[in-house]
Amino acid sequence: MQFDLRRFMASGRADWQQTFDCDLSGRDFAGARIEDPVTAGFAARAEGNEVHMTLRAKASVHGECARCLDPVCLDVQVDAEWTARERDLDDPDFELPLNAEGCLDLDDWLYQEFCFQIPTVLLCSADCLGLCPQCGRKRPCSCPAAPEESAQPDARLSVLRSLLN
Ligand SMILES: [Zn+2]
Ligand SMILES: [Zn+2]
Repeated sequence: MQFDLRRFMASGRADWQQTFDCDLSGRDFAGARIEDPVTAGFAARAEGNEVHMTLRAKASVHGECARCLDPVCLDVQVDAEWTARERDLDDPDFELPLNAEGCLDLDDWLYQEFCFQIPTVLLCSADCLGLCPQCGRKRPCSCPAAPEESAQPDARLSVLRSLLN
């Protein structure tokens, strides 16, 4: 979905609103995926020589827990606002995906916004214990605690204690 920002700035003084479907299933979000088509709402409003734009959408994000690899699904919301001025149209550092003709690629913008919103590390729960290095199953498992995890007094400390005595 394209929005002709240059033309809107030049002539479009009436508010513009558009609902569109966007397929992000082929895009990668640091290992996570948005499988279903996303319905997004875009609006543009001219005010003086500025254009205020909003982009809103909601999506279910699928990924894997970074610790135990269980599937994780979470709902992520995009609620972005941007104000553009005429000089932005020719600014190579303009942060929205704008082509040389001054058309804004709303699919790319939506992708950018979801990238900001989706956590780079997904967890099935905040206190996930991850996988057991001994049996490979999700912890807690039935394995005895690994030696370094049990509360053995450090032999070097007992040497120090004997010096104190
Ligand atoms: Zn987990
Ligand atoms: Zn185990």
